Parts: sequence; C-alpha cells; structure tokens
Amino acid sequence: MSREAGVSESSVKQIVLASRPKGPPTAENFRLEEVPMPALRAGGLLLRVLYLSLDPYMRGRMDDRKSYAKPVGIGEVMIGESVCEVVASDRPGYAAGDIVLAHTGWRTHAAWDGPASRKLDPALAPITTALGVLGMPGFTAYAGLYVIGKPKAGETVAVAAASGPVGSLVGQLARMVGARAVGIAGGAEKCRYATEELRFDAAIDHRAPNFAQQLAVACPKGIDVYFENVGGAVWQAVLPLLNTFARVPVCGLIAHYSGGGQVAGPNLLPATMREVLTKSLTLRGFINYEFSAEHFAPFLRTVAAGLADGRIRYREDITNGLENAPAAFIGMLEGRNFGKTLVRVAH
Ligand code: NDP
Repeated sequence: MSREAGVSESSVKQIVLASRPKGPPTAENFRLEEVPMPALRAGGLLLRVLYLSLDPYMRGRMDDRKSYAKPVGIGEVMIGESVCEVVASDRPGYAAGDIVLAHTGWRTHAAWDGPASRKLDPALAPITTALGVLGMPGFTAYAGLYVIGKPKAGETVAVAAASGPVGSLVGQLARMVGARAVGIAGGAEKCRYATEELRFDAAIDHRAPNFAQQLAVACPKGIDVYFENVGGAVWQAVLPLLNTFARVPVCGLIAHYSGGGQVAGPNLLPATMREVLTKSLTLRGFINYEFSAEHFAPFLRTVAAGLADGRIRYREDITNGLENAPAAFIGMLEGRNFGKTLVRVAH
C-alpha cells in the first residue's frame, strides 16, 4: 500500500481503492492518503471514527460489475460502517461526545450529513457489538435463519464460516429453537471454539481431506436448513445431505468473491438443479436490509437478551490502526480472522 507523505494533526487519513484486484486483493489495491479535516456541514455531524467494520461484501465493491450496490470507484474511499464519536454537531438530538453508527468508510474522521445515525449507549453493550453481534452481521444471521430458514426443534441446521459474526450467531440461534447446529470452519481451533464456546452440536474442518464424509457423519439425519455463507467445495459436500423440503438461505458466497465468477472444480449446476427439483428445495438469496423494517427491533431484543443471560456468545478480532485495515481485510477473506473483524481507528 502506498502512503502519502506529510501526515499532520489537522488532517484526516483515509484509505482509497487504488486499483481493482485481479483475484484475491493485495496491499497494492489500496492507498493511504491524507486530506484536510472536513468542516461540519449544516444539519450534520463531524465524526471521529473509533472502530471500523471490515466485512466480506467489501470485496464485491472492489470489482466493477453490476451487483445490488454500486462499486467503489478508483480513487474513492473504501466504503464501510463504523462506530464514531461525535466531535461537533449541528443536528438536533446529537451532541459532542455521543457515540453513533455511521457509514463513514475507511477514514479517521468524516463530515456526516446522511440519514439519522443509530445512537449507541455504551452502558447497554460494548460499542463494538453494534458492528457485529448486535449489528448488521448479527441481523443477517437472525433474518436469514428465522425468516427464510425457519428451523424447527429437532431439525439440523448447518452453517459455514461458523466462528465469524454471521455463522456463529446462526448456530446459536438454531440451538435456541431446539435445532441441532452443525458448524463448518477452517481449522481445529475454530471448530473447538464452535463446539466448546458457542455450544454447536458438532463442527467440521472444511480443510480436512475427508471433509465431506465427516460432515455426513455429523448430520446423521441429513440437513434441513443450510445457511449458505461460502459456496464452492462446502456447497458440494452439503448438497447430497439436504433433506426433502430443506431451506437454503443464500447469504454469502465468499469462496467465489475473488474468483471473478469462475471457480475451479466441477460444474455443480446440474447436480444443484437436480436436487432442487427432486427434493423440493427452497433456495432464497437475500440482502439483510430487505428485512430491517419488520425484523430489526425483534432481532435486537432477542440477541440482547441472549447476550445478557449467556445463551449467546461472540468473539472479536481487533486490529490497531487504520493503516493496517487492508492487511486485516485481506486476512479475513483468507480465513485468518477469528471472530468479527474490526479496526480500532482511535481510542
Ligand atoms: P467472517 O468473519 O466469518 O469471515 C469470512 C470467513 O469465511 C473466513 O474467516 C473463513 O472462515 C471463511 N471462508 C473464506 N473462504 C472460504 C472458503 N473458500 N471456504 C469456506 N470458508 C471460507 O464473515 P462474516 O460472518 O462477516 O460473513 C459471512 C458470510 O455472510 C459472507 O459470505 C458474507 O459475504 C455474508 N454476508 C451476507 C450478508 C447479506 O446481507 N446477505 C450480510 C453480511 C454478511 P474459516 O476460516 O472458518 O474458513
């Protein structure tokens, strides 16, 4: 990553998209810049970013192709949600010192005149949770599982990226309705965390040479809900295990994000369509905000209660310094994160 010279106190650091990745992103795709501190705008807030969230969807925004959201332009600040402290306010109801959520992007400070920001009460929950278990990833797990997956007691729910903010909550929410939770994760340590800390019924390492057989053993009654986070080889192993009328909330396909749509391995389309037809499967893609209006408030109540009484647990992976965001992001896409990936931008 290149760095612009002469960083001064009154300036803002930001990370822009320097070039589009060909395959997995590298440090050269990002550039750290310094720009003048923005002024408070009429009706807006001046924000100091405390924690920046790094999420897999950002990989998609680095490509110039049609999707549900427009790509980041070359030279534009990388997009992202953050927890911020209000430095100055011209907005009724907000005062200096308030802690808020905002879509500032990868920068140290921002002038915000966008929609109302959710105010956070540090006395209710650690402020970082608003980017993870009590934020967008947590809500994604809740809405995808309960609205689309609809698990019932005694059914089997499988989910990959099981130690991350989405997958970890999917398994715990499945257990809360009496379903059997089977996690899929990269490596023994993450699998142990899923069973011992998160209380999944089983967890399988997707890098194990006999992964498909191990998954079949862990799901003796097949799979009723497969919460799809990754695609690729995991989907291949899950497909024959799906039961008649199984539901598949298609949440993410991280194994494909850096493949430009081309993934090595067999063409799974014919097998997928055969199973969809003969087992009356429901595959339903979704982007979390589709469900916000109706389900965000019950999500917050349910998960906050689960955190308070210990039924729900979470883990965070915090990197210090905005300049280290690209490395943390690249690491997350490769599975080197362990828990929700955050950058502590300021104390
Ligand atoms: P995580 O923090 O869990 O990080 C991503 C994880 O994906 C890695 O740690 C790694 O875990 C796993 N992974 C990466 N490549 C592969 C692979 N080839 N095969 C199997 N696993 C892989 O991410 P999140 O919890 O934030 O997100 C999980 C998924 O949910 C992503 O696909 C994301 O895009 C999606 N998502 C969708 C939303 C929506 O609205 N539809 C909203 C939010 C997230 P491991 O080491 O265990 O393999």
